[in-house]
Amino acid sequence: MSVNPRRQFLARTAAAAAAALIPIEVFGQAPGRKLGVALCGLGSLSTNQIVPALFKTRNCRLAGIVTGTPSKAAEWKQKYGLSDKSIYDYKTMGRMADNKDIDIVYVVTPNALHMEHTLAAAAAGKHVFCEKPLEISVDRCQRMLDAVKKAGRMLGVGYRLQFEPNHLECIRLAREKVLGDVKIIDANFGFAIGDPAQWRLNRALAGGGSLMDVGIYCLQTTRMITGENPVWINASEVKTDKEKFKEVDETILWQSKFPSGVVSNSICTYSANGLAGFRAATTRGWFSLDPAYFYNGNRGKRSDGPEINLPVGDQFATELDDFADCIINKRPSKVPGEMGLADVKFLMAIYESIKKGRPVSLA
Ligand code: NDP
Repeated sequence: MSVNPRRQFLARTAAAAAAALIPIEVFGQAPGRKLGVALCGLGSLSTNQIVPALFKTRNCRLAGIVTGTPSKAAEWKQKYGLSDKSIYDYKTMGRMADNKDIDIVYVVTPNALHMEHTLAAAAAGKHVFCEKPLEISVDRCQRMLDAVKKAGRMLGVGYRLQFEPNHLECIRLAREKVLGDVKIIDANFGFAIGDPAQWRLNRALAGGGSLMDVGIYCLQTTRMITGENPVWINASEVKTDKEKFKEVDETILWQSKFPSGVVSNSICTYSANGLAGFRAATTRGWFSLDPAYFYNGNRGKRSDGPEINLPVGDQFATELDDFADCIINKRPSKVPGEMGLADVKFLMAIYESIKKGRPVSLA
């Protein structure tokens, strides 16, 4: 039997890379190469925030798009000089397997499509960065984690505030007990939602309403500041427009208890503007960010005087650079799929508490 040395070499290299879970594209990349990102879903966030951010990154570049809208494909092709082979629709994502220029697929579609698009990207051998919430159920999140793991790739969640300097400063204040122990956290976020026909008000696409969309930021705040997971949640819902919010929640109020004894209080809403901050009450004072959840201009105060107002770069560029650096340097992400799954588990506990009309224990 004749043996082809080149084929043997390739087989050995592929096997070694797979065994070590080293992405073959990254394994073979020239030092300093920027990772190629394909944006999946060219809506408001992709157009207004993510693509401008991509051009500010150190480690990433726009390498492709996935869109269901032919006019957007034509527009983006022309605007960003994309080749035809870098343009996909949701049914042709599998062909990305042949496109070594794409390392990461950034999923920016409606919440309940994240799983489908993550599974397609993973099957094509790509790393996946996925917008929040990771998906609309724990089971669907788990399937995403499993698929990406099976492909030997990484899954990150678009929790931009995990990298925002003012949030990091608040975490430092909490961990170093600069103002004593944190005892109570008040975190609220909402906005008055417009167009009644949008997917955010459609249960099948959104999975829920204000809680899935903006309440998740309040939950993240409480987990970031405490460094703990809630062990008890009590929630209730208020609906003032039963027609507009017939499929999803309008306003939700909830309280949580954490293992160290911290308690939190939150409201999220789709019916009012002006709530976008948090305050942590401590044994010797307090610290707060208001606004806390915007793309720009987050700032806050401390009871002992100083303002919390650190310079902030582009939050989307920062999170993308970090994810690419994790891939390049084979280090874990601080916003892994597991974090997205855990958040969805707690969001589901909030819905469960509303449905049962009583607190839910998670201990
Ligand atoms: P948009 O409605 O503006 O865009 C979603 C895009 O998804 C559409 O333009 C479309 O792109 C694509 N899409 C595919 N199938 C559908 C469908 N059945 N219905 C509607 N759109 C579809 O939403 P956003 O950009 O505001 O949000 C996208 C994701 O990003 C959500 O998960 C959201 O929670 C998250 N997000 C995160 C933010 C953050 O700060 N981290 C802020 C805002 C949103 P195409 O025409 O190209 O197919």
